[in-house]
Amino acid sequence: MRGAVLYGPRDVRFEERDAPRITKSTDAIIKISDTCVCGSDLWPYRGINPVTQPTPMGHEYCGIVEEVGSAVTSIKPGQFVIGSFFASDNTCPNCQIGYQSSCQHAEFVGGAQAPMLRVPLADGTLVVTRDVPSDDLIPSLLALSDVMGTGWFAADATNVKPGSTVAVVGDGAVGLLGVLSAKQMGAERIIAMSRHESRQKLAREFGATDIVTERGDEGVAHIKDLTDGIGADSVLECVGTQQSMTQAIHSTRRGGYLGYVGVPHGVELNGQELFYAHVHLHGGPAPVRRFLPKLIDLVWNGKINPGKVFDLALPLDQVAEGYRAMDERRAIKTLLRP
Ligand SMILES: [Zn+2]
Repeated sequence: MRGAVLYGPRDVRFEERDAPRITKSTDAIIKISDTCVCGSDLWPYRGINPVTQPTPMGHEYCGIVEEVGSAVTSIKPGQFVIGSFFASDNTCPNCQIGYQSSCQHAEFVGGAQAPMLRVPLADGTLVVTRDVPSDDLIPSLLALSDVMGTGWFAADATNVKPGSTVAVVGDGAVGLLGVLSAKQMGAERIIAMSRHESRQKLAREFGATDIVTERGDEGVAHIKDLTDGIGADSVLECVGTQQSMTQAIHSTRRGGYLGYVGVPHGVELNGQELFYAHVHLHGGPAPVRRFLPKLIDLVWNGKINPGKVFDLALPLDQVAEGYRAMDERRAIKTLLRP
């Protein structure tokens, strides 16, 4: 089969790779329905995370089970499944409290930008949909695999509830879906920080009530202006830079909540500043598995349509263009069809 392999900065190739096989009795092999490029794939693509060897890319997936290992009991060939980027047993103490991305047996799932994928710990990792979905549902179901689950975690981690005032730092797919999540949870006011017209439009469609275009101290000042000088109850940090994190801390009200789901790059926190900020901090790699059953229901029942973040769809063999379009911010998120 042919799949995407990253060789170095801005060098993604679509090339022959070994088809995945069952290597452990708990594995499943799935035939990918659709896959996509993640904002976090851009870190190695841009050379910010060094690429030390040719790396099969992609960690967002959904599809039809092709084959399962001998120890797999609940997942069966022919089922449509969705899983997260961390495989998890869903039984260890960390999984049981809902932190499957910290599973004691967690394994990163990679190589999904391909027609076939091996998923470890299939029983714990994969969630089966009630039926094989129609094609129009697949982008929204795929979005649950990472970006929607991550946006939802950010909103969940920041205690968003009916009537909340929420600010979202970052207008990538996760930030936009953080807006959608906050709306679902009943937030009354949702301030999206974005400078890009197409992203502002989608943010509004997902439920943003206000747009702040400034960054840094000016962005914070604008949020304070909009909130009677006190800041937002819940702030979702969906970027992972020092500037975005500082902006998020300063935008949170005293006693408020900050959820950080952008993978940090060079972020350092000042203890003194944190001490006096009086904010609840909670974040990390989203335990997407915890939210999958609920989010699948919301998509299936037409309550949410997170697949709208895909504003570019390409055949898988044009994966390199999919990366370029996101790198140059011509696309929010690229859907890839095998
Ligand atoms: Zn576990």
